[in-house]
Amino acid sequence: MLINDDIELFKTEPTHFAQVILPFATPKPYTFHIPDEWVEQVKFGIRVEVQFGTGRDLYAAVVIAVNDKKPDHKTKPILQVIDSEPIISTTQLAFWEWLASYYACTLGEVMNAALPTNMKLSSETRIVLNPDHDQDFSGLDDKEYLVAEALTIQKELTIDQIQKILGQKTVYPIVNRLLMYDILDIKEELQYRFKPKMVSCVRLKEPYRSDPSVLGAAFDLVKNSEKQTNAMLAFVQLQRQEKRIRTSEVCAKANIDLSVLRAIEKKGIWEIFESEISRVGGYEDDLIASFELSDQQTKAIYEIKKNFETKNVTLLHGVTGSGKTRVYTELIEAELLRGGQVLYLIPEIALTTQIINRLQKIFGEKIAVYHSKLNGNERVELWQQTLAGKPIILGVRSSLFLPFKNLTLIIVDEEHDSSFKQQDPSPRYNARDAAIFLASLTKAKVLLGTATPSVETYFNAQQQKYGLVEMTERFGGLQLPEIEIVDSRTELKNKTMVGNFTSRLVAEMKSAVGRGEQIILFQNRRGYAPTMSCTTCGWTSECRNCDVSLTYHKFANTLNCHYCGYTIRLPKECPACGATTLNIKGFGTERIEDELKIHLPEARVGRLDLDTARTKTAHSKIINDFEERQIDVLVGTQMVTKGLDFENVGLVGVLSADNLLKFPDFRASERAFQLLLQVSGRAGRKNKQGKVIIQAFDVKNLILQDVQKNDFSNFFKREILERKNFIYPPFYRLIGINIKHKKPDVLRDASKIFTKILKERLGERVQGPAVPLVERVNTYYILNYLIKMERDVSKLTFAKQIIQEATYQLNHTEGYSNVRVLVDVDPY
Ligand code: ADP
Ligand code: ZN
Ligand code: ZN
Repeated sequence: MLINDDIELFKTEPTHFAQVILPFATPKPYTFHIPDEWVEQVKFGIRVEVQFGTGRDLYAAVVIAVNDKKPDHKTKPILQVIDSEPIISTTQLAFWEWLASYYACTLGEVMNAALPTNMKLSSETRIVLNPDHDQDFSGLDDKEYLVAEALTIQKELTIDQIQKILGQKTVYPIVNRLLMYDILDIKEELQYRFKPKMVSCVRLKEPYRSDPSVLGAAFDLVKNSEKQTNAMLAFVQLQRQEKRIRTSEVCAKANIDLSVLRAIEKKGIWEIFESEISRVGGYEDDLIASFELSDQQTKAIYEIKKNFETKNVTLLHGVTGSGKTRVYTELIEAELLRGGQVLYLIPEIALTTQIINRLQKIFGEKIAVYHSKLNGNERVELWQQTLAGKPIILGVRSSLFLPFKNLTLIIVDEEHDSSFKQQDPSPRYNARDAAIFLASLTKAKVLLGTATPSVETYFNAQQQKYGLVEMTERFGGLQLPEIEIVDSRTELKNKTMVGNFTSRLVAEMKSAVGRGEQIILFQNRRGYAPTMSCTTCGWTSECRNCDVSLTYHKFANTLNCHYCGYTIRLPKECPACGATTLNIKGFGTERIEDELKIHLPEARVGRLDLDTARTKTAHSKIINDFEERQIDVLVGTQMVTKGLDFENVGLVGVLSADNLLKFPDFRASERAFQLLLQVSGRAGRKNKQGKVIIQAFDVKNLILQDVQKNDFSNFFKREILERKNFIYPPFYRLIGINIKHKKPDVLRDASKIFTKILKERLGERVQGPAVPLVERVNTYYILNYLIKMERDVSKLTFAKQIIQEATYQLNHTEGYSNVRVLVDVDPY
C-alpha cells in the first residue's frame, strides 16, 4: 500500500500544502501536501486522513493552515478528506494555541483533550455497534453496509480489519459517516454507559394529590381493610418528610407487603411508578418558575452587572446557603434574553447532581449537560448542539472545548475547587483560568462563585483586577452553623475518647439522632499522605527547613520532606515526650463506620469515599439514600464537602482536623480552611441553625479559629502575607516538573544532568529534585522539581523555554533518551 504513495510522490511536484495537527505530541504542526483532487476541499478546520511515521498508522488530523509554501522536508500526501465543513473555529484554535503555549505542551495533546473520541480516529481505534441503534441498515450504501454487517458478527473491529473488509486503505470517511448515523460507536477502554437506576415509588393520584382536604374520602375507600388503612397512614406520615416515597418504605413502616399497595392502586387512590435514582438523566417534574429574589440577591445581581461594565471577571463571594445558584439563574436568564450562550462550569459532575436538577427544572430543554460519563455518540451530539447554539451548557472542565456559537457568560461555580485542574494527561490546565482566557477571546464575562475563594482569586479581586461582590448572609436569614472545636488531646488524656470519637461528638450525635436529624461525618481523603505523630503528646514530624510535615516512605523506612528533600530515619520513640506511641497511619472511613456501630447501634450508616463511589450510580445512590433519609449518618471523605445541600442535616462532625492542617503543601492552610468551612456549610440549611463539631489536637491553630468565626478576611490577611514572605503564588508562579524512568539509578543520574542545566539558567528558582509522596507510579520512578518564577510573562516564557531545552539535552544524552519529563504550569 505504501508503495503507491511513493510512486505518487514522484508523479508531480506538489504545490499545495496543508499544516495539520496530529493527535499526539509532535512539537510542531506537521505539513502534508494536497493532491490535486483534494485541493478544493482541503480547508481550515476540517479533518483529513494521513499516514504518519514509519508504520502503516493512519490518523485523522485537523487542518489548521493551507498554503503553497513548500516545506524543507519531503512531504506525504493527504489521503482522504473526512469532513466537508470545519469541525473547529479559528476561536477554538486560538484557545488551543494558548493552552499549548501556557501549559507547555503540544497542540496535539490539546487536540486530544478537546475533541470527542468519535472525532479522533486512529489506527488504535476500535469500532463497535452502537447498542442503542435499531440495526436497520437499509439506508446504507454498499461499503457502509459491509462494515455494519461485519459488526453484527464480530463484536468489534479495528481500522486494520475494516481496511481488509473493504479492500481499501482509506476508510475513515466511511467510518465517520457511520458514526454520524449513530450506527457505530468507538470502543473506549473504560466504556461506561450510564443506565439510570430505578426505584419503585408511590404517589397519590388526582384529586388527592393536589388537594389534601379530600384525602378523607380516600381513607373511606380503604376503611374495611386494616392493612390498607395502615399503608395509607404510613404514606401520609412519610409524605411529611419526603418528596419521593418508595414502596419499600411504606411497606416497612406499615409492616405490610407490596400486594397491599397494589390493592390501593386498584382503587385509584395512588399509583406505583418507577423513579430514577439519579437526577442527572433528566427532569421528571414540570418546569418550575424561579423563586423571587431576596434583597441580598437583588443587590448582588445589580453589583455583578455593574462590575461587568468595567471588568471581565467578577468574584461572587457568598457564604454557604446564601443562594448563589439563584443569582446565577437570574444572570443566565438575562443572558438568554440577549441571545447569548452560557457555560456553567462545575468541578465534578457526580458531586453536583443537585445543581443539575435545579437548573433543569428552570431551564428545561435549554440546558445540556456535558460530563465524562457520556458515551461517544452523546458527546458528538452535545458538540453539535453547542455549535447550533444550545443556550446553556452545564459541564465539567472539558466543556470549555465545545464549539460555542456565541459564548457571552461563563459561570465558574466553586471556583476554588482543585478538580478544575487537570492533573493528567497533558494539557494540565486549570479550567477556571482557561475559562478566563476563553472568555477574552469571545468577549464573554466570567463570574467566579464560591463561599471560600481561592487565595489567587481573592487577591485579584482585592487588586481590583476582578470585581468583588459579597453575600454575607444565608438565605432566609438562617444562621450559619455554630462551630465548636473539641480538644481531642484533653479527651485522650481523660480517657473519654473512644476510638476516633470524643465524648462531646458522641453526645451531640446522640441528641441529633434523637431529634430525627441526620449527621455528616468527615474524614480526610483515602490514601492520605501518611505522616508520623505521637498519640501521647500529639507531636508530628516536621521538616527542618520547611514548614511542612515529613511524610512517611514505606520502602525506605524514612520520613521525607516533600519540598526540600530533607530526610530522616524513622524514629523509634517520640522526640518530644519519649513515649513509644508513635503512629503512622491516619484512619480510614471504614474504621469510622465500624466504630459508629458501637456509639450509635441503631443508626443506618452510609459511606461515601472513593471505594464506595467508584461509579456514578453508586455515588448518586448513596447521596439519594441520604437525601431520602434511608441513611442517618453519612461518613465520607472530601466528597461530602462539595455542592450538596441536604435539608435535614443537624450535625456535621470533623473527626480530625490535624492532619488536614499539616498537609505538606503550601496550599495546606488554604485547603484546610476551604474544606472545613465547606463541610460545615452542610449543616442546618433548611430552617434551623446547624451544629458543627471539629475534633483536633491542635485546638489553638489559627486556621481553626478563623473557621470557627467564619472569618475569611482574617484568614486571607494572614495567608497572603505568608505567600508573600515565602515567595509563593499569587506573587510568584510555580512550574512543577516530574522526571520519570523505570530504573531508579538511571533516573538519579539523569536528574543530575537535568538539575545542572536548570540551575545554571534559572539559579535559585529551582527547587529539587525531591522524592514525591508516591515514588513509583505505573512502574516509573519519579523525581520532582518546583520552579518559582516571577510573575512576568516574559520570565515565565523564558523558564518554559529552559525546561524545553533541558529536556531536549537530557533526551539527547546517551542512556537518557527515554527519561520522561512532564511539565505542570501552575500546579494545584
Ligand atoms: P449556596 O449555593 O450559596 O450555598 P444555595 O443556592 O444552595 O446556596 O441556596 C441555599 C438554599 O436557599 C437552597 O435551598 C435554595 O433553594 C434556597 N434559596 C436560595 N435563594 C432563594 C430564593 N430567592 N427563594 C427561595 N429559596 C431560595
Ligand atoms: Zn523541607
Ligand atoms: Zn510524644
